[in-house]
Amino acid sequence: MKAIRVALPLALEPLSYLPPLGEGPRLGARVVVPFRKEVRVGLVVGEEETPHGHALRHAIGYLDEGPFLDPLGVERLLAAARFLFAPLGQVVADFLPFIEAPLCHRVRLVPGARPEALEAPLLEKLRDWTPAEALAPELLDALREGGVLEERVAEALPRRPRLLPVRPPDAGIGPKAAEALRVLWQLGEAESQADLARRAGTGSGVVRTLIERGYVRVEEVPAVPELPEPHPRRLAPLPPPEPPSRIQGGRFRERLAALKGLMQQGPLLVLFPEGSMIERAWPYLPEALPFYGKLPALLRRRLWQTRGKSVLGSAQALFFPGPFFRVVVAEAASDAHKLASGTRAFLPALVEALGMEPLYLEAAPSAHALYFAEGRGRPLFFAPPRVRGQAVPKAKSRGLLAGRTRALVQQALERGRQVLVLAARKGYASRLHCASCGYQPECPNCALPLRYYKEKRGGELVCHQCGHRQPAPPVCPRCQSELIEAKGPGLDWLAESLRRSFPETPVGRLSGGLEDLPEPLRQGAPGILVATTRVLRKNPLKNLALIALPWVEGFLPESDFHAPERFFAMLWQLRDLVPGKNPYFVLEAYHPDHPAIEGFLKGDLLGFPESELAMRKALSYPPFSRMVKLEVSHREESTAREAAGRLFEALAARAQEGELLGPAPAPIPRIKGRYLWHLIVKSEDPERLFELLKDLPPPRPARLKLDPDPVGFTGLLD
Ligand SMILES: [Zn+2]
Ligand SMILES: [Zn+2]
Repeated sequence: MKAIRVALPLALEPLSYLPPLGEGPRLGARVVVPFRKEVRVGLVVGEEETPHGHALRHAIGYLDEGPFLDPLGVERLLAAARFLFAPLGQVVADFLPFIEAPLCHRVRLVPGARPEALEAPLLEKLRDWTPAEALAPELLDALREGGVLEERVAEALPRRPRLLPVRPPDAGIGPKAAEALRVLWQLGEAESQADLARRAGTGSGVVRTLIERGYVRVEEVPAVPELPEPHPRRLAPLPPPEPPSRIQGGRFRERLAALKGLMQQGPLLVLFPEGSMIERAWPYLPEALPFYGKLPALLRRRLWQTRGKSVLGSAQALFFPGPFFRVVVAEAASDAHKLASGTRAFLPALVEALGMEPLYLEAAPSAHALYFAEGRGRPLFFAPPRVRGQAVPKAKSRGLLAGRTRALVQQALERGRQVLVLAARKGYASRLHCASCGYQPECPNCALPLRYYKEKRGGELVCHQCGHRQPAPPVCPRCQSELIEAKGPGLDWLAESLRRSFPETPVGRLSGGLEDLPEPLRQGAPGILVATTRVLRKNPLKNLALIALPWVEGFLPESDFHAPERFFAMLWQLRDLVPGKNPYFVLEAYHPDHPAIEGFLKGDLLGFPESELAMRKALSYPPFSRMVKLEVSHREESTAREAAGRLFEALAARAQEGELLGPAPAPIPRIKGRYLWHLIVKSEDPERLFELLKDLPPPRPARLKLDPDPVGFTGLLD
């Protein structure tokens, strides 16, 4: 007998089950299985001969007639797990979390069975189909193992009430009730008592009476969420002469017009880094389906069955059943393509690893796209929009904003226009610093300077890694000096300083989790918005004339080699923030001659990305090599260090020159009370990494985590 391999959306490898009673294996179908004391939904990812000497349990039932994932999808799922060095279940949890559904699960005894363990009343009850929730999981398991239980599962659909008219109004009811009933006859149906009362302009007591007296009937109907209607916006398709390898430059609408042209040739799967971009693109491409985590899971499961349409999706659309004419990756340099937990996949790299040969859609070319699109056809390159602006050297000790920046802000406001000031950090300041002894408060759990928030009385220090909070000290706790001061201006500090400089002007704030927008700003009146990059997802300024970045280096942390190209792409996205507006830029930097700044101000889209690519080639950074970061952690420093050492030795026995780097303490050596050590495995041949990392001995008692595409690894490569 064949067994099925089932991947549950948990950090586990697939588990073996016997197929549901009376059924065979169905590759790619969703299947309900008993797991620990629950029932869970998984995907059938393979089959095998039943292993001898193992008593396998039966799966309970399939949820789909056909496959939920086609054979190509299953194959890609397996390939993704291998590429990400992750258990298959983790890949399912990251990319297909919506396979799980509320279940309607019923059980009964096999007719004629009389298990001895059951007492008479229960025996009687189980002769008929009974909801499984009514029985203890242990009992269900015992009955299953005894082979006396029949089970049925199906997806439980949410239901909503519906009011239907039964009889016409007659003398038995008063005038108000008669009127409400007439309204219902006219409508055909109403959603609820309150809905009918509102439409008939009466109280809900009147409607209740109609139901009680049998004039109106309430029934339950399936409540299936629908996609909202897009609000289409005109966009003339711009079909490229031949399918390009990348679409770059120009403005957002121009790139979408090229996409629309391609969609006329066949359905596209477009993978965006964030939902807000899908929401911006959909009105221009209403012929496509949006597919991302913001839609209810039930709706996602239904849309999954659609074929032949283009899809505008997030990472959750990666395995969307095709076939697609082309796969498109939008803004490959965006850090939102990197999953923050789970497999920690970096989507553009995974799409390449799966052999999907995507075409790239970007405001500014990324090194990744330049490298991978090479040889796949001609790029479609739109002329960049004209850039106006200047770089201003940042003076170390003079105020938060340079005099030049202040003058430009003043000018824009006087002309009745709006100003965007971009902050690199949330909160008040990156840290506190004692000017006399150099003391900086650090998180007691993490080796990180605490962020300073000034709004709370006396100020508060917060760790962004673990959430630790403590009051800010009024004087330096080490030398008692009062010279303890804020460093690294954050959003709140910039807003405070601008309010002081421009007391008559509305100053708003916008970041993830904070939206403080004075009404005049929304209306287009002159004013200032201090915002983090959140503004790229949601821009309230329509009358924008000036964009100021008072601290460019805040966007360029040295530990992240993707940061410069991300910064460059961000400048181009800011340039395109308000359609039809051409804002002036003022960029304050300690190094105003940074090539990303110079390239942007010159309006040169290609020079900087090409120099980045050359730099990565010289250093053999991705995409010229592949790196995997191994992170060993433990609460005891010595345990973490020794475990990293043992792991190093195990790897060193297999590695060749240059393939193994470390071990070294992580750039942030302690997080949430655990000491972190890093090793990097690196090779130009990805297959080598699979050989090196195969069957690695776990560094117990320390914990090991793999990052299949690390962005930060300072200290190990220099
Ligand atoms: Zn001090
Ligand atoms: Zn912390």
